[in-house]
Amino acid sequence: MVVQVRHSTPGDPATHESPFATFQRLALQALLVAIVVFAASGLGILTRPEHQLASFWPTNALLLGLFARKPGLASPAGWAAAALGYVAADLLTGTSLPTTLRLTMANLAGVLAGYLLFRHVRHEDRRLQHPLSMLWVLAVSAVAALGAALVGSLSSHAMMRMGFLTASGFWFSAELVSYVAILPVVLLAPTPAGFVRTLHQQAGRVRRQPALVLPGVALALAILLGVAIGGPGAIAFPVPALLWCALAYRLFTTALVTMLLCMWTLIAIATGLIDLQLLETSVQPVISLRMGMALLAVAPLTVASVNAARNHLLATLNHAADHDALTGVLNRSAFLRRGRRQLDQSREGDAPVVAMMLDLDHFKSVNDRHGHAAGDAVLAAFAQRVRTHLREDGLFGRFGGEEFAVLLSGVEADAALAVGERLRLIASEPVVLDDGRALDVTVSVGIAVSSGSGLERLEDLLHQADNALYRAKAMGRNRVVASA
Ligand code: GH3
Ligand code: MG
Ligand code: MG
Repeated sequence: MVVQVRHSTPGDPATHESPFATFQRLALQALLVAIVVFAASGLGILTRPEHQLASFWPTNALLLGLFARKPGLASPAGWAAAALGYVAADLLTGTSLPTTLRLTMANLAGVLAGYLLFRHVRHEDRRLQHPLSMLWVLAVSAVAALGAALVGSLSSHAMMRMGFLTASGFWFSAELVSYVAILPVVLLAPTPAGFVRTLHQQAGRVRRQPALVLPGVALALAILLGVAIGGPGAIAFPVPALLWCALAYRLFTTALVTMLLCMWTLIAIATGLIDLQLLETSVQPVISLRMGMALLAVAPLTVASVNAARNHLLATLNHAADHDALTGVLNRSAFLRRGRRQLDQSREGDAPVVAMMLDLDHFKSVNDRHGHAAGDAVLAAFAQRVRTHLREDGLFGRFGGEEFAVLLSGVEADAALAVGERLRLIASEPVVLDDGRALDVTVSVGIAVSSGSGLERLEDLLHQADNALYRAKAMGRNRVVASA
């Protein structure tokens, strides 16, 4: 079959864009980048003590995540807009121009270093779908943090009143924990519509399985325990609960929970809620603590990635076990299993059930004349047409070779004949192969309608449909026959 596919993604610029439209698109994208950088920096500056770095600086990780998700934004205009956002946020909050420029250079250097490495990360790792994905995120985070730390402390360790090495370590650790905590959230973030949908789905899941709140409750208890006991070990208290969350919740939820926990821990330590009993004068424990937190955050997200990879594999295997590889429709055993279930449900609702057997006519000669590959293409095209035509609740499966079965609930005999006739007609439309050859095929259809006695087994119904199909063949093929 010849199918025209236009290769484009929703974010792609149109192929024939006018210069004005291009300008408009780039300007809008740059504006978006500038707003994100400005707003996030404003938030970070609120947490910045004098002569120090902010305790929480989300901007760089947000910007890197944004550029990684939408590489189109990382145009020269996008980078310039980001620089503008950083500068504007600092100047408007009273930072001097030289300091503003130094900080902006450090921030941009970090994001650029991370971005350059990120370009080598595979798509599935960007979505954290692989067991090793989180290690990639850690590597990107470390490179980005190092970029910012080197450029930043070279130019401003004196301002921070620290030696170069200490300032680098301080800067590196602050950046690392932000990147590791925030980057996964940005990489996995759904669209607003997707977010609302997910929220509804999750609420439904929790209603059906109230035990799903337990990992969250365990996490809250672990956090309280950390506050009550304090000390350096307190940062590891939530780890078991986090791992439980990673196994119970979706990847994005785990990333969100981990990020919130990191933010909470930083704030709780800064405000003394969790007392680490550290010496106030030394920055080394703070560096160690931030790096420890960043590395701890890798664990739940790795577990979540392994879990996601495993779930994906299971779904693929389940699909392969139930579906025919050539046509993508149900195979015989899956059709029979689901068919029996459907028959049971119809019995409860007293709805009539229709079984159809469909067999392509003289299919052997299609293979003989045009080759097996052409025969395969005809089978795939036929299955696709029938699948598109049937209602969603109609079961459709391939029983073998060029033989297919259909099961419909709530359909009376007259309507069943009409459906059979429609399927016969759509099968007879020529199938155009990739090389341009058009093949004419026809199908014979046998139909059986449940008697309403409620006693039929699926196998009996299919057997009656098969007998009707045999008669359709005997009467000259390309026709629909209902069992008497
Ligand atoms: P009838 O009208 O009586 O059904 O004749 P027919 O030729 O369609 O029936 P027959 O059972 O004699 O032949 C079926 C053919 O279907 C034989 C086999 O080569 C072909 N076939 C079965 N499975 C496949 C497949 O997966 N791909 C292709 N290309 N051909 C297949
Ligand atoms: Mg046949
Ligand atoms: Mg056959």
